[in-house]
Amino acid sequence: MQRRFWLMVLLILAGAAYALQKAAPLRGEWRPDEVAPGVYVIHGPTELPSPSNQGFMNNPAFVLSGEGVVVIDPGSSVQVGEMLLAHIEKVTDKPILAVFNSHIHGDHWLGNQAIRARYPEVPIYGHDRVGPKVLAGAGTEWVQLMLRLTENATLGTDVIAPDHPLKDGDVLRIGGLTYRVMNNDKAHTDTDIMLHIEELDVMFLGDNAGHGRILRLEGGSFPGNITALENALASGATVFVPGHGPSGGSEVATRYRDYLQTLYETVQQGVEEGLADFEIRPLLLPKLGPWQQWAGFDSELGPHISGAYLEAEAAAF
Ligand SMILES: [Zn+2]
Repeated sequence: MQRRFWLMVLLILAGAAYALQKAAPLRGEWRPDEVAPGVYVIHGPTELPSPSNQGFMNNPAFVLSGEGVVVIDPGSSVQVGEMLLAHIEKVTDKPILAVFNSHIHGDHWLGNQAIRARYPEVPIYGHDRVGPKVLAGAGTEWVQLMLRLTENATLGTDVIAPDHPLKDGDVLRIGGLTYRVMNNDKAHTDTDIMLHIEELDVMFLGDNAGHGRILRLEGGSFPGNITALENALASGATVFVPGHGPSGGSEVATRYRDYLQTLYETVQQGVEEGLADFEIRPLLLPKLGPWQQWAGFDSELGPHISGAYLEAEAAAF
């Protein structure tokens, strides 16, 4: 009798400890939008991670075809990954065959954990530099960053790195569809892949484009990012899914390309004329009218000018 009592106590304590280690499920009524036949995107908020959005801020997607489901960027936490899984299971009872991660930023891949928990053998594909960087410390940094920004709303999220490396030009046949991998050395980061589903004319741009949101560019390249978007536009795709913000037609790629191009060309001209970066800002601002209402514009403009300045200066040598 006494032994049973202590066993109960132990079980209750273990349950409480488990509950403490995992934050609540995602709130809110997020719906998948079918952007092409069988291609669903849950368009998340174009905000930075916060306690109120529980860190959810990207565009988790899934593609339903003959034999199963392909997941692209399952989100910023185990909670987002589980929300995505629940939506997939409402649409189909077919299994998940593969996961793709567009790049190193954890708001796109920390949800891997939820998919792996349900499908322990599922391959997780990413740029060949992404898995090693995640394991070398970027993964833990992202877990910590999300916890801090959301006041622990992502608690319980672990690092599950992509383990199937990809490079430019790789072609994968999955579930009866063709996934063409596109990347150039540096764009939004140095770990980006874009995915072209050839039969459906759908292009997943990753964070090479935001739509209604200006994105941080660190360790990437302004001309590289512009080239990546040119390549995406030349692919023949007609539906474009950005890393953040609404999907649409080619305007998703052209608007972001135009922002980057306007910024880089103006900075480059300033560098050639011997101006300092703070002198370029007032020349640039009037040209960026179309993007000034976009989320992230005010916070990213300074870092973008500095980054473009360094890159233009280095290129001039
Ligand atoms: Zn990113």
